[in-house]
Amino acid sequence: MSQSRTIPAASTVSCAETRLTELRKRLLEISDLGYAAAVLGWDQATYMPAAGAPARGRQKAMLSRLAHERATDPDLGRLLDGLQTHVEALHTDSDEACLVRVALREFERATRVPADFVSRRAEHGARSYDAWTRARPADDFATMRPYLEKGTELAREYAGFFAPCAAIADPLIDRSDDGMTTASVRALFDALRADLVPIANAICDQAPADDSCLRGPFDEGPQLAFATLAIEAIGYDMRRGRMDKTHHPFCTKFSGDDVRITTRVRLDDLSDALFSCMHEAGHAIYEQGVASALVGTPLGHGVSAGVHESQSRMWENMVGRSRGFWEHFYPALQRTFPAQLQAVPLETFYRAINKVQRSLIRTDADEVTYNLHVMMRFDLEIDMLEGRLAVKDLPEAWRARMQADLGLAPADDRDGCLQDVHWYSGWIGGAFQGYTIGNILAAQLYDAAVAAHPSIPTEIGEGAYDTLSGWLCDRVYRHGAKFRPDELIERATGAPLAIAPYVAYLRGKYGALYQLS
Ligand code: ZN
Repeated sequence: MSQSRTIPAASTVSCAETRLTELRKRLLEISDLGYAAAVLGWDQATYMPAAGAPARGRQKAMLSRLAHERATDPDLGRLLDGLQTHVEALHTDSDEACLVRVALREFERATRVPADFVSRRAEHGARSYDAWTRARPADDFATMRPYLEKGTELAREYAGFFAPCAAIADPLIDRSDDGMTTASVRALFDALRADLVPIANAICDQAPADDSCLRGPFDEGPQLAFATLAIEAIGYDMRRGRMDKTHHPFCTKFSGDDVRITTRVRLDDLSDALFSCMHEAGHAIYEQGVASALVGTPLGHGVSAGVHESQSRMWENMVGRSRGFWEHFYPALQRTFPAQLQAVPLETFYRAINKVQRSLIRTDADEVTYNLHVMMRFDLEIDMLEGRLAVKDLPEAWRARMQADLGLAPADDRDGCLQDVHWYSGWIGGAFQGYTIGNILAAQLYDAAVAAHPSIPTEIGEGAYDTLSGWLCDRVYRHGAKFRPDELIERATGAPLAIAPYVAYLRGKYGALYQLS
C-alpha cells in the first residue's frame, strides 16, 4: 500500500478539490440516469400494462444513450486524467483514490462501446423481455428464437469491442464478476462439480423428503405479511424500500434510500414467496448497507454479481433455511397458518424446506442440486457464443444436458430453456456464473463471521441477526465497489475465494439430514 509521498502545495490541493467536486457532480448525473432507467424497468416488471412495452423500450434506450454520452464525455476523461497525480499522493484505500481508479476504469470500458450499440441493446432487451413474458407461458420457443439469435449476436459484437480477449465471454463475465474469466470460472466449477455430484447422487437416490406441509393452499395476504416480518427481522429497512409482485423476482435500487424488492406468490407452495423474499432482501440489505458517501458514484453499489449473490444466498439459505432460524420463527408461522401447520412438527417443516430432489426449475432447486443448473447454463451459453451450439438446437441440447446432469428432462420448453429471464432480456453470457460464485462465497463469509463471533449461530436461534449483519456491513457492505471482488474477499475472510467452506457446509447440513457417511 502506498503512503503519502509528497505534500502538495495548497493551490494544487484546492484545484484538486474543485476537480473532485466537478467529478462527483458528473458521476451523480450518470448515476441518476441509471436510477431513472431502473424506475422504468421496475414499473415495466410490476404495474405497466403490456401495451406500454414499445414506448417503454424507446424510453429506456433513450436514457441508456444519455447515460452513455455522459459516461464517455471526453471532458470526463480529461477530468480523471487531471486527478491522477492528486490521488497518487493519497492512501490507496481512501474514498477519493478508489473513486478515481474505478471511475477511470469505467470510463475506459465505456469509451470502447459505441453509443449506437448501447441503445440498440437496450431496445432489444425491452422488446425481448416483453415477448418472453407471453412466450414462456405459451411454451413458444419459436417466437423467442430470433430474439435469442439477436442476443447472441449482440453479445459477440460487445466482446469485439474488447478484442483481443482469450474467450468471447470474458468481457461479459468481467462486467458482472470483475476479475473472473471463462477459464477461471470453468476451473472453479470443475472443482466444485467433483465434490458436488457424489453428494447430490447419494441424496437423490434416497426416497425424497415429505414436503406436503408446504402445499397449502396458503392465502396470499398472510404469506406476504409473514415474509415481510421475516425480511424486516433480518435487516431489510422497509422505510427505505418496498415490495411488489412480478413474474421473476428481483431487487432494484433508485437511490441509497430507495432499494426495492419484488416477489411472486404461489398459493400451493409456501416456500416460493417466503424464500424469494429472503433472497431479494439479502440483495437489498447489501445495497442499503453501502456507505452513503459512496452512493451516486461508481462505488455506490455492490461490487459484483458473485458477491451480491453471496448475500442473497446467505440470508435465504444459510440463515433462512437453518434449523436455528425456524426454532425462532416457526411458532409465528404456525400462528399465521394454524389450519395447515399446527399439527406439523418443526422437524417435518425443516426437512420439507430442505428437500433435495432432481428438479426442472433452477429457481425452485434445492441448495445441493442448484449449482448443477447453473453450470449447465454457463456451459450452454459459452457453446452458443463460441458457435458450437446453434440457437435453434438449444431446446434439444437443454434436454440432453438436463438428462445427463440431473437425471430428468423437461417435457416442454416452458420448463426448459425458456424458464429464465436472463437470456431474453438483452444478450447472453456473464449472467449465470455469479449464482454459484455467490453460493461458494456465502459459506466462506459466514465461516469468517462465525470465527470472529462464535455466538452467531446461537443468536440466529434467538431471532437476533445484528452480530452477523454488523460483521457483513463492516467487512463487505459499506465498502460498495471500492475494492475489487478478489481483494474484498481476501480482506473480509483472510483468504482467496475457495470451495472448501461451501463443500463442508453442504456435507455438514445435508449429511445430517440424509444420513450420508
Ligand atoms: Zn439473486
